[in-house]
Amino acid sequence: MRMPFVLLALTLSAGALGAQQAAPVPVRTLVRAGKLIDGTGAAPRSDQGVLVEDGRITAVGAWAEVSARAPGVATIDLSGMTVLPGLIDAHTHILLQGDITAADYDDQLLKESIPYRTIRAVAAGRTALMNGFTTLRDLETEGAMFADVDLKRAFALGIVPGPRMFVATRAFSATGMYPLSGYSWELKVPDGVQIVDGPEEIRKGVREQVKYGADWIKVYVDRRYYIGDDGRLHSWVNFTDEELKMFVDEAHRLGKRAAAHAIGYDGIDAALRAGFNSIEHGDGLTPDLMDRMIKQGAYWCPTIFVGAYVAEGRGGIWPRMVDIERVAFGQAVTKGVKIAYGTDAGGYAWTENQAQEMAYMVRYGMAPLQVIRSATSVAADLLGQSANLGAVAPGRWADLVAVKEDPLADITALQRVGWVMKGGTVMKN
Ligand SMILES: [Zn+2]
Repeated sequence: MRMPFVLLALTLSAGALGAQQAAPVPVRTLVRAGKLIDGTGAAPRSDQGVLVEDGRITAVGAWAEVSARAPGVATIDLSGMTVLPGLIDAHTHILLQGDITAADYDDQLLKESIPYRTIRAVAAGRTALMNGFTTLRDLETEGAMFADVDLKRAFALGIVPGPRMFVATRAFSATGMYPLSGYSWELKVPDGVQIVDGPEEIRKGVREQVKYGADWIKVYVDRRYYIGDDGRLHSWVNFTDEELKMFVDEAHRLGKRAAAHAIGYDGIDAALRAGFNSIEHGDGLTPDLMDRMIKQGAYWCPTIFVGAYVAEGRGGIWPRMVDIERVAFGQAVTKGVKIAYGTDAGGYAWTENQAQEMAYMVRYGMAPLQVIRSATSVAADLLGQSANLGAVAPGRWADLVAVKEDPLADITALQRVGWVMKGGTVMKN
């Protein structure tokens, strides 16, 4: 990993000092922020200092005050920029490179080896980090087995630059309910997920995924979306209540959280009955389901951008779903549903900036400061990482980004992140 000059110089002087002292001298950096948006939803503050020691933030406050506490410490001057916490995308597929059509998806599973797909994922991880996304919750590998665990490890060790990863490995669906499908029965084609039927297979499957490194258990709860006579977006549910409860109970018993792909009313209803921690997509959310989410403390990851991105190419009901979700999003903002930023990157090409989702959220009724909160502290909370991520505050990892323009005036400013720090190391300058 490339070290910025200031850190390199600091390391050398710290080494010289270390010869005279018993305890190693921490690597310290001061960041001067023209404006700071700390990720908690608090109003921006001007001329702030952020003191970073050994990769974590140890002090935040008025520049004069913080800089006086750290005399002689090398400064990164971002006084012409707005500094924010590193962005979190809580729904990605780093091993997928866009699947507008079924053919796009099948080609990747049939014609690309897992090593080749992993090489492409390394490029995707670098792109995400350069765009300011310092953390991803990657919600399944789409047939690439446990390669997300390897990517997470390589990024964490700095072998290649990439975000912090929370991974779901293979995800689950039931026999006949997930691609690849439609091939001759004489052929054995790969599955995009781990197929399990019945509570005991589910229990074993969850244990296996956790054994190989899953941080999250992801379940495809529904499919076959349609508009019912009641005007609601409905769906077919893939598992029985008993099966769904087994996923959640076993995940929780092993200290993991469970994410439900649930788009239609029926799928969301079933996922909430089972106690899933997050509803993914959730286009068909209605006020009664939102009330249940609030009561249960469940998060919604709306992934608006991908829906709009694939709607035209997929046709059918997909364009209608975009309209239905827009209404649901406005209602959820008003009600105060916990909305964690998630884009389904990988469902669209990684060459598209993941920050494009933010403009949709603003257009659908969320204030820019709340959009930033969704992509920082709310997403960190979803991950159970509030102590480490999602805010510019003492104790958190020094994952920071900076933009030239004011993101509160124009949220698309976050599509032009100019500077990125991850764990105290400058990754983009
Ligand atoms: Zn997805």
